[in-house]
Amino acid sequence: MAENKLNPKLGMDAASLKKSLENHIRFTLGKDQYTSTTYDRYSGLALATRDRLIERWIQTQQTYYDKNAKRVYYLSLEFLLGRTLGNSLMNLGLQKEAEKTAQELGYSLEELREKEWDAGLGNGGLGRLAACFLDSLATMELPAVGYGIRYDYGIFFQSIRDGWQVETPDNWLRFGNVWEFPRPEFTCVVHFYGRTEDWLDENGWKRKRWVDAEEIVAVAYDTPVPGYGNNTVNNLRLWSAKASREFDLNYFNGGDYIQAVAAKATSENITKVLYPNDNVFEGKELRLKQEYFFVSATIQDIFRRYKKTHKTFDQFPDKVAIQLNDTHPAIAIAELMRILVDIERLDWDAAWNITVQTFGYTNHTILPEALEKWSVGLLGRVLPRHLEIIYEINSRFLDGVRERYPADPDLWRDLSIIEEGEDKKIRMANLAIVGSHSLNGVAALHTEILKKSVFPGFYRLWPEKFNNKTNGVTQRRWLKLCNPELSALISSKIGEGWITNLGELRKLEPFAEDSGFRNEWAQVKKKKKEQLAAYILSRNNIEVNPESLFDIQVKRLHEYKRQLLNALHVVTLYNRIIDNPAADHVPRTVIFAGKAAPGYWMAKLIIKLITSIADKVNSDPRVGDLLKVVFLRNYAVSNAEKIIPAANLSEQISTAGTEASGTGNMKFALNGALTIGTLDGANIEILEEVGKDNIFIFGLDSTGVSALKSKGYDPYYYYNKNRELYRILNQIRQGFFSPDQVDRFAPLADALLSNGDTYMLLADYDSYIACQDRAAKLWKDQDAWNKSSILNTARMGKFSTDRTIAEYAKDIWKVHPVHIDF
Ligand SMILES: *Cc1c(COP(=O)(O)O)cnc(C)c1O
Repeated sequence: MAENKLNPKLGMDAASLKKSLENHIRFTLGKDQYTSTTYDRYSGLALATRDRLIERWIQTQQTYYDKNAKRVYYLSLEFLLGRTLGNSLMNLGLQKEAEKTAQELGYSLEELREKEWDAGLGNGGLGRLAACFLDSLATMELPAVGYGIRYDYGIFFQSIRDGWQVETPDNWLRFGNVWEFPRPEFTCVVHFYGRTEDWLDENGWKRKRWVDAEEIVAVAYDTPVPGYGNNTVNNLRLWSAKASREFDLNYFNGGDYIQAVAAKATSENITKVLYPNDNVFEGKELRLKQEYFFVSATIQDIFRRYKKTHKTFDQFPDKVAIQLNDTHPAIAIAELMRILVDIERLDWDAAWNITVQTFGYTNHTILPEALEKWSVGLLGRVLPRHLEIIYEINSRFLDGVRERYPADPDLWRDLSIIEEGEDKKIRMANLAIVGSHSLNGVAALHTEILKKSVFPGFYRLWPEKFNNKTNGVTQRRWLKLCNPELSALISSKIGEGWITNLGELRKLEPFAEDSGFRNEWAQVKKKKKEQLAAYILSRNNIEVNPESLFDIQVKRLHEYKRQLLNALHVVTLYNRIIDNPAADHVPRTVIFAGKAAPGYWMAKLIIKLITSIADKVNSDPRVGDLLKVVFLRNYAVSNAEKIIPAANLSEQISTAGTEASGTGNMKFALNGALTIGTLDGANIEILEEVGKDNIFIFGLDSTGVSALKSKGYDPYYYYNKNRELYRILNQIRQGFFSPDQVDRFAPLADALLSNGDTYMLLADYDSYIACQDRAAKLWKDQDAWNKSSILNTARMGKFSTDRTIAEYAKDIWKVHPVHIDF
């Protein structure tokens, strides 16, 4: 199509970009040079950048259609995108032009970028992984669409008041969102409630239908997702709920106008807010409705697209791959069956074959409290037809299991999609495994635990479905964009190939032996630490010394992640400084950040403990520069981009066997931090890559954890054995950090002693402290530390999402690159 050629007015030079920006300020925003604010200039630049994505986006979608390409659909309740302007400029190759344009307006590009509010439509690692995947999919020219929910409120804003976490709503759309395109013409009707009834079709066959349901309309909002250095612009389609016309008529005819308007608002609540739990299942009706709402709209959308070019469903799995990001969208399996059987009238077996060939399921956690199990009563009320379909799937599945294992009723019970008991539950993981051809874990250890401990019955039944896809991060955002100084240094030695082929970082290895290079490397790290120090001063009014060892733990607050173990180390250091001021202490700045789920009382108490320790340590004149403790508020993608490049030591200290993969660990090592960590998740693979001399490993491994648990773990044994630990737990319990309320932190001491220390902090304390001492010792040899830092970056090639996505594409999705000519 000739009219799809690049509009010459949308040039990729600085002058065109500037002209475009000025036009947007005038004609889109209705402002001039006098009335426009800094935010308007950000918006103008963002709109000018967006313009340069649009034609590539249209061309990309057109090409996929023309080539009838197989597409992968990535379904996720969360996309933790963060900011978009810097990323879009980088991927379009417009960074220098934008910098020049900003400067001509009297700003730095950085100042304008800072005006963008994060898109925080996710909780943590799972949502950020989805965002990194989108970047890699587009960069690798793979035909992909992301589907999710356009929450009106993303993850809450965390402030710290009097040392406690306080949540406020994240009204991220307040000033509009220049990156999205509403598609009011792409709406889908989604049903809830009602009942099912039998009917006879024209052949006299008994069929089922879903009737008397409530209707909600899903409206599509599209966000372009550009690849790096190519013309691919994929689509992220997020759904927003609107009351239907039907709804309007029914309710407004009732006569009570005010009631009807209120009811309409309630029905639009479905996409109001992201559930703020990370790794915890909350069986709420509204959450179930969110899950089904976006799944139903998405499957309708996929059908609409498929049917444009196909008359039958034989080719469906050859054109459609659907990946379920955890079980959150797993109701899609029942929904696809419903559409194929009830609406398209395929017979059950044909529909089931298509379904299983279409879906892949990624498991993200083995924590029992995170596994989704919906009460049968609730699911049957909200989605009556789906409950019937799930029962039918289960009954046919169990028939097969009984045939193969006639003498093993324990196995039947374990594999059943229904958990029997007083309150029957639907096990969404079992549904996802039964309804998919692939089940993957997100790190080698995690996948082994899935096989051996979590789903051993399924592994016996279908070993071929199990596979591993170790997570990654996109080096575009997590090195090139967030650490331009280090990126420039790297590229000056090995070129820019690493930006799309992270394995090329290996070429840096020889430079670890070059003292000139080590010096430059250290200068960059120092600069990033100075920038973070300025940020800390502006946020927390704490002066930290950029020469000190920056020891950083930033991630969601969770007991399994053991921020409390890190806090015990901080108190250990404090006591040592006070007891022995003249000793040769290594100056440290220990930095924490992370949100606690609003209902997670223990996690919130841990934040209060950390801020209380910070108050005590930072104000004690005997400590001075030797130790500073900082809790930065509102951990999010945009401040992760400031924090991570400044780290010397990365804390990845979860109890072995609890963190499925972790991705924060990869971002830190990529930016030259050394890891102190357990043999958990992807830490094990980081160890394999960097070598044991370039990482600090401590504590029980997952086998050791299980063995100690089954032998009978007694935390008091460790408490009584270690004098430093004994003293610290008493300090915490007796109000040393809470003189205004001496028993405030007693529940934390209780959790570690009388309540059994679920995450085995005390078992690992000795080994952790000894390991921290080794880290401090290496820090004193700056040459050795810097060598190790360079080798960490040089050996991170494996942890690009480009590698992860290549594996998904080949092993699970069978999708291939489609080049976009422009
Ligand atoms: C990467 C990232 C995470 C995940 O960190 P983990 O240490 O793997 O838990 C969470 N939140 C944000 C904002 C991130 O960027």
